[in-house]
Amino acid sequence: MNLTASDIYGYYQPAVCARRIYLRHVGEPEAEPGPYEQILFRLGKRHETDHLASLGKVEDLSSVDFREAVQRTKDLIRRSAPVIYQPAFTAEAKLGSVRGIIGGAPDFIIRKGNSYLIRDCKISRRINETDHPEILHQLTLYGWLYEQTTGERIAGLEVVSGTGEIVAISYEDGGGALDTLSRISDIQQQSEEPYGPVGWSRCQPCGFFNHCWGRPRIRMTWPWFPKSIKALSVYSVHLE
Ligand code: SF4
Repeated sequence: MNLTASDIYGYYQPAVCARRIYLRHVGEPEAEPGPYEQILFRLGKRHETDHLASLGKVEDLSSVDFREAVQRTKDLIRRSAPVIYQPAFTAEAKLGSVRGIIGGAPDFIIRKGNSYLIRDCKISRRINETDHPEILHQLTLYGWLYEQTTGERIAGLEVVSGTGEIVAISYEDGGGALDTLSRISDIQQQSEEPYGPVGWSRCQPCGFFNHCWGRPRIRMTWPWFPKSIKALSVYSVHLE
C-alpha cells in the first residue's frame, strides 16, 4: 500500500465517492481534466507562485524527483533552512490490517522557533470542515508526516486561502487524515466496484463520468406479470 495526501483530495473532490477511489486503483481509464478544471489548476498555480514570490529566499525542491526531495528535505531541516518550497515526506503506517508507506508534499515549510510551520496555498475561499474537509485532512496529514520524520512537534498549520487570508488549521495528531486514508485503503482492497450514487452535478466534473453514465445498467423489477400493455407503466425502472 502506498498512499499520498493527493488520495485524500481524490476521495473528496469533485464529490465524495468510494467508486472513484476504486476505479483509480484498478487503473480504469480516466478522462483528462476539462477546460474549467484546467483554468482552476492554472489559477491555483498562480496563487502559489505569487505567495512563493512574497517569501524571499527559499530552498526550491519543486523540480526534484520525489524520492530525492524526501532526502533533501531532511538535510535542509537539519540545517534549519528558513523556507523550503515543496518539501517531501514519507512515513510508514498501519492502516487497518495493511502496512504501507504514506507520502506527502506540502507547498511550504517555514522555520518558526525550533520547528517549522506548514503552509499550503488553496484557491478555495472558505477553509473549513463543512466546505473543504479534504484541505483540513491534507494539512493534518502533512503535520503527522513532519512529526514522524523529525520527531519534533510542528509549529502550526496554515492555508493561504483564495481571498489571500492566512487561515490557521488546528492539528489533531493526524487522526482525521489517517482515518480517511484507512477508509481509502479499505476501498482499494475491495474485490468489486463499490456502490457510488450517481447524480448529474456530482458526476459531471468527474473523470469517470463516461464509465458510470455512458453505460447505464437498467434493472427492471417485475412486481407481477402484466395483463395488458397498459400495465407496463407500473414496472419500476432503476438506473444504477
Ligand atoms: S462519475 Fe460519479 S459515481 Fe462515477 S466515480 Fe465519478 S463521482 Fe463516483
